[in-house]
Amino acid sequence: MNANQHLHGFVQRYAQPLPELKATLHRMTYEKNGADLVWLEREEENKTFAVAFCTIPQDDTGVFHILEHSVLCGSEKYPVKEPFVNLIKSSLETFLNAFTFSDKTMYPLCSRNDQDFLNLMDVYLDAVFHPLSVTDPHAFRQEGWHYELDSPQGELTYNGVVYNEMKGVYAGWDAVLQRQMNALLFPDNCYGFESGGYPEAIPSLTYSQYQASHKRFYHPSNARIFLDGKVDLDAVLAKLDSFLSAYDALEIDTSIPLQAPVHPKETTAVYEIGAQESDENKDILALGWVFGRFDEPEKVLAASALAQVLCGSNEAPLKKALLEQGLAEDVQLQVQDGIQQCFAQLIVRNTDVGKKEQILSIIRQVLEQQAQGGLDHSRIAAVLNKLEFSARALEYSRMPQGIVLSIKSLESWLYGGDPAQNLQCGEQFAALREKLDQGWFEEFLRFAFLGNPHQAQLCLLPSKTLGEEKRQKEAAGLAGIKAGWSEEEIWQVMDDFHAFRTRQAQPDTPEGLATLPVLTLSDIPVEIPPSKQREERVAEQRVLHQCLETGGIVYLDLYFALKDFTLDQLSQASLLASLLGDLSTHRHSALELRNQMDRYLGFFSAAVTVFTHRGTGETTPYLVVSTAMLEKYQSEAAALVEEILTETRFDETQQLNFLLTQNRMMLEQQIQMSGNAYASQRAAAAFSPKGAVKEAVGGIRYLRYLQQQDQPETASPSEKLTQLFEKVFSRWRVTVGLTGKLNEHWLAGMLEQLPDTPVGSPVQYSVEPLAKEGFVIPAGIGFAAQVEKAELPSWGSAQVASQLLTYEYLWNTVRVQGGAYGVGLSIDSSGEARFSSYRDPNAKATLSRFREAGEALRQAAKEDLTNFIISTIGKSQPVLTPHAQGMSEAADTLSGITHRDRQQLHTEILTTTPQQLEELSRQLEEGAVQAGICVIGGAAVLEGCRDDLDSRENLL
Ligand SMILES: [Zn+2]
Repeated sequence: MNANQHLHGFVQRYAQPLPELKATLHRMTYEKNGADLVWLEREEENKTFAVAFCTIPQDDTGVFHILEHSVLCGSEKYPVKEPFVNLIKSSLETFLNAFTFSDKTMYPLCSRNDQDFLNLMDVYLDAVFHPLSVTDPHAFRQEGWHYELDSPQGELTYNGVVYNEMKGVYAGWDAVLQRQMNALLFPDNCYGFESGGYPEAIPSLTYSQYQASHKRFYHPSNARIFLDGKVDLDAVLAKLDSFLSAYDALEIDTSIPLQAPVHPKETTAVYEIGAQESDENKDILALGWVFGRFDEPEKVLAASALAQVLCGSNEAPLKKALLEQGLAEDVQLQVQDGIQQCFAQLIVRNTDVGKKEQILSIIRQVLEQQAQGGLDHSRIAAVLNKLEFSARALEYSRMPQGIVLSIKSLESWLYGGDPAQNLQCGEQFAALREKLDQGWFEEFLRFAFLGNPHQAQLCLLPSKTLGEEKRQKEAAGLAGIKAGWSEEEIWQVMDDFHAFRTRQAQPDTPEGLATLPVLTLSDIPVEIPPSKQREERVAEQRVLHQCLETGGIVYLDLYFALKDFTLDQLSQASLLASLLGDLSTHRHSALELRNQMDRYLGFFSAAVTVFTHRGTGETTPYLVVSTAMLEKYQSEAAALVEEILTETRFDETQQLNFLLTQNRMMLEQQIQMSGNAYASQRAAAAFSPKGAVKEAVGGIRYLRYLQQQDQPETASPSEKLTQLFEKVFSRWRVTVGLTGKLNEHWLAGMLEQLPDTPVGSPVQYSVEPLAKEGFVIPAGIGFAAQVEKAELPSWGSAQVASQLLTYEYLWNTVRVQGGAYGVGLSIDSSGEARFSSYRDPNAKATLSRFREAGEALRQAAKEDLTNFIISTIGKSQPVLTPHAQGMSEAADTLSGITHRDRQQLHTEILTTTPQQLEELSRQLEEGAVQAGICVIGGAAVLEGCRDDLDSRENLL
């Protein structure tokens, strides 16, 4: 389209080339009501659509989060309970989700298939503009909050999906901190509120407030529509026109007033720790500084660079000063951008607020010293290289590029800024490099951190009783509410609850289901795309080469086979891997090494993983070193990787101990946030050597190892790590994964530098005993897992079965009726079936649902399977970044899965029969008798399922 050209009610305002993305940005407006549209026209098969509304909270009730969930529960054109879930069950979507941010709500989706893309758009647009939830309160109650009362004498309780989701979020100290910091820095605008909803505030939201919020904010005049990739523009704009044309322009002021500088008094809050944990040195101190606006991207980049320079590693000056004085166990400087006013926050963890004045004075001293010429410019230049690499690689949490671009674009567009501002970064980095020697960074540091009038300070204190106090307060509040009701009112609440339950259990009508757009099996290609992986030999070693276009980046993964390591040694190897790059080498101090890495490597990481070969049945753990570099820096990068793998020193015990403590703290936090993954991993350790290895290198067993190492009375593991290090990086262990252009000469040079230490004979890994275990964490919710073994009729049919059970039976019983935020089943090619729930208020009920899954599958096998087959195919072919693609194919190869196997899986999915599912249902029933169980959760959740568990211990 050209400027001023009209199409389906839209007029094109301008087109702007974006060379860094090889794209053209088209800006269009819907003339009748002002809906604003951006399309990134570029060669991208995976198309993205997103509609976003500026949604500005005025309290902590989470109204926009509840809207985000509930508008997806049925619309005028699609009158079924959850069209969103129906789409997951039936389409080829490569991304389908919705997000609530602190000032906007976004509904994004992706698909490679044109018809699918239009179908998905249609359902999403009908959901946001014509949801049934604004005329019928059922979805508001289900997703937001409702009372539950089974009998007149029974206990009145709250339940709701968002309610439980947010309870899970607030189990973490970081959420508690963030809420307080936001409230301090932004007392006068929307950023002071919890847009997701604070659990205690959610039940104060009324249905009429909910309705009014939809009416006011979900209007085309307040909409921003984002498109990316090779879309059929004519069809897409026609589709949009069919929804937008009914609306006249609405005067809606969604500008967010800028927060004037404030410097409030320090606040103190509490966060929950485990009952057995020591509360000594568990205080957290946080400082926040608002330093810039959304339209000052250079300041955001500069703040991010300074955060790395000052606190990015244990040797960074600010962090080092606090750690070495024994004033903290971890220090982070974070930049919060993506909102109208950006801020930085310094978090001093595991400290003693009694020493606050000393801490504050050190912080001031270090910042002063840095601003007065102490800033290391070569360090900043190296960090800018690293930041630019990540900005250009567009790899965030494995989201499709179009989704990342839509979010980046809205981070200026939403506030009336240029939608392209954050889509290209080359000029911004060039400008910053130029300013480096003009004293600009020193000036910015002074302005942002030392003389900043807009700042706040916060202390978090640990509490062992907070969870129980909250629970009692909530119970007392509810008892008070109930006591105020007449007998009729009590019966009314019970009747409402029972009617609500009955309705949840009702299936969708056939007429309702018939409205949903579907694809047919003929839309699915019979063949899967050819593999891009070539196997080669360089310097006698196996190279799995992924021949993909990577824009001048080389991704290198070195897989060191550790077949001869025992489980205990593998735990040590896992610790060793996590230390690489953070310790000194014989050539460089840790800080110098960090500088070289930031300059020449896009990223560097190492971890232990494990594969079991399908053909030989052999289980092999690997220490995988992953790194990326620009082709132009290949020789510097190779030398650095070489140095880390051969010259790292483990004898600096103080450094080692800092990292050990930080690693332990990080894993503890991960388990509390993603307990579902850790619970199922724990239970799976009884079923295969692979499961046992995974538990030893990254599960609760590994946490116990770290906790033991991190005791003052335990001797430092230096010596053991040194011995292990000399064994691990032998060239006879390595398989190379390489994505991008292969330079054989360079790779051979690198491999030949690795020592040729001999490899020992393989260890036979035994499995852990079958167990039913509970682990207590400080949280108001839990995570339940059941793992069992089944004989599969075919791997493909098991994929269809897990898709079917996850999105029908489990979704309806555990999420919709049980209130858990998430639930799922996955079955691997060996027949290991893993059930798990996420942020679950009632693990006991969930475990019963898991046991009954076999019977549920038998019933479900009677349905038409076409939709499930299609969506299972979609799920088996995710959109991957080049590096993820390379790693995925390498993992298949190391597991003995060939291209032929993948084609066979595809065919098996396509030809799944009801008989196969029935066979599998019998297998799941039999397996459930011999299942492993693990529940991680708050004390009340574990108490509820004590009959299902043989043991219970504290995680922390
Ligand atoms: Zn949510």
